[in-house]
Amino acid sequence: MNRKNIRELICQSLELNGYDPEEAQRIFLLEMGVVKYFQFEEVMPACLGLENIERDEKSINYYWSSRSDQAECPNCHEISRHERKDFVRKPVQDIASEGCAVYHEVKLKRYYCDNQECKSKMFVERFYEFTEENARKTRRFKDRCVNLSVATGNLPAERLLRAEGSVICDDTISKYVKTKAAKVIEANLTEDKVKILSVDDFNTRKGDRSSGCTVFIDQETHKVLVIVKGTTKEAAQRIIERFPSSEFLSRDRSSSLSSAGDACGKVQVADRFHLVQNIHKAIEDALTAEMPANIFVKEGDGWKGTPEGVGNNVVFSVPQEETEKRIELAGLSESKAEKYRNTLKMLELSDKGIRTAEIAKALDIPPKAVTELRRGAASTISEVQDKIERRIEKYPENSNGQGRPPADGRRKTIGANPRPANESIVEPYRGIVVEMWNAGDSHHTIHPTIQEKGFVGSKAAVYQYICKLEYEDPCVLTRKIKQKKPGTPWADSFDKQEAQDLPKLSLEKITRKSVYKSILNECKDARPANADKEEGDSNEEKKPEAEKPKPKSKKPAMAKYSPLDQEYLDLIYGKDEESSEDQRKAEQTADDHEEAKKKGRTERFEKIKAKYPIVAMLIMFLTDFHKWLDLNDESGLAGFVEKYKDSEVDAVAQFVNGLVKDYDAVLNCLRYPHISNGPIEGVNTRTKSVHRRGGGRASVELLCAFRVLAS
Ligand SMILES: [Zn+2]
Repeated sequence: MNRKNIRELICQSLELNGYDPEEAQRIFLLEMGVVKYFQFEEVMPACLGLENIERDEKSINYYWSSRSDQAECPNCHEISRHERKDFVRKPVQDIASEGCAVYHEVKLKRYYCDNQECKSKMFVERFYEFTEENARKTRRFKDRCVNLSVATGNLPAERLLRAEGSVICDDTISKYVKTKAAKVIEANLTEDKVKILSVDDFNTRKGDRSSGCTVFIDQETHKVLVIVKGTTKEAAQRIIERFPSSEFLSRDRSSSLSSAGDACGKVQVADRFHLVQNIHKAIEDALTAEMPANIFVKEGDGWKGTPEGVGNNVVFSVPQEETEKRIELAGLSESKAEKYRNTLKMLELSDKGIRTAEIAKALDIPPKAVTELRRGAASTISEVQDKIERRIEKYPENSNGQGRPPADGRRKTIGANPRPANESIVEPYRGIVVEMWNAGDSHHTIHPTIQEKGFVGSKAAVYQYICKLEYEDPCVLTRKIKQKKPGTPWADSFDKQEAQDLPKLSLEKITRKSVYKSILNECKDARPANADKEEGDSNEEKKPEAEKPKPKSKKPAMAKYSPLDQEYLDLIYGKDEESSEDQRKAEQTADDHEEAKKKGRTERFEKIKAKYPIVAMLIMFLTDFHKWLDLNDESGLAGFVEKYKDSEVDAVAQFVNGLVKDYDAVLNCLRYPHISNGPIEGVNTRTKSVHRRGGGRASVELLCAFRVLAS
């Protein structure tokens, strides 16, 4: 596409229609006035006149020239009417249109400053409503960049804008975002209108304390005020000092924030969310200190327990001959058998309190393999047990006690009415066959021998011949054909009685994590009923059984309003079956199954409780904690501290000592239950996601800019 020039197009066609050039020129300028009125009324200053438009495939250029007769000196702000003759050209980019970048080329006038005291002798006129000084983009274009960037990030904003035709790069966008946010942040930090200041910190890189940032939020409006680098007392204090009129400081339990709040004389409120979070952490720590990561619950009489050494720890083991018996009865392959032996050995050594590295040495396997064994221990043990039980079940009923099914009088390899042996093609070799068979050979070795003597039949024929011989009377064979029961080859050597007499052996693995969860669950039921709105335990919140809606629909509630037809909804969410009789039965069994599982879980948990007294103690600890927190009971807090401050469990004592150190703030938490850091946690989540959105490269300043502009 060639460059199109509106002035030439219009003037030429006017002249062709009989207008003289001067008149054509005048009509053209009138028309340009209309274009300005239509498209740029809001954007362009009144004294700029549109003179021409040019376009090619990439850009549209609007040419403007100043028709002003006076201007304000930017230095001394005096109005000057003293024009110079020359112009300054300045291209400014505007929001793209029709896939093309839009530029305004503005011819600006120069003026002399007549003020004798002013330093500048002359100046270029400025139009601040249109663009900032020296800026290459219009204000509205900058706003668009910032809005897109706050919503999507710098790079996506760049991509979007480029797709529209604009010429821009992400660094420039970043600059605009920071510039715009700077004003908001400055205003936030000078206005001092905040009543309750909420503070929290987070790490931009997970687990990396050096990447810590502190976030300040207006508790009432949930507006992000500022994000600063560092989580030190000084960093926090610098900001808190900017809000002299805010009475309250809602914060987590960190000591740096606490001392910063003290220094600024705020009423500090320890936040509920963090109190709950901290006690959960304390419980987890206590468990970690007192419990192995995996607890094996051993059931069945197969385990021989012997109290051993210090702390009357019971060491469970399985006698070696019994182990071998099990391996034999289950018919394990050599590698599986080895694994089984090692697993049992490993469990025994673990019970003795021997560490992984030493166990590895004792078993002569790499330490990694020990971990592997431990991970699979429960299933290894139960697989073998299952295998033996399956064999007992499948064992042929009519066996004769030695595990050999009774002879049914006929070999499978012979037909119903076999022809007598002496009609067989093997008959000529009878002597050799009988002699070799009785000497211990099989048809595999007999066949090649008689082949050498001229036999042309198959190996199977030899086998059939031997079978027929076995049933001949008198039998010439001194050795019986080994009986094989099709389908259950193991039955031969399987001793059902022995298998049934074998004591049960089972192992269940319970992780420390699941014990922790069980503790939380158990306390949840015991909490004061009105407290279920708490933010503290929003994780794994489950409705009690009774409140569960009876008909289970797979579709979410919102699906009701979906524009999709029922047919397609079913494709997406799965069909809601009409609950027929079978269906209900199936559901019932599923429920029963679930019930049984739950019961098993409870039983196991009870066992754990019995073995580890710490568990019951932690349950009580958490229940006591919720008693005063949920009911905002101040005297309860005192009792709680008194009860647990000398606890033998380090993590518990540590938590309580933390409460003592921070007593006033915790007390305030009960006095002012409406103040909570809940909202700031949501803000933090969002902030982290904004940080990740940019690939984690955004500086604190940019991060702060994004969050301040977005809230
Ligand atoms: Zn001046």
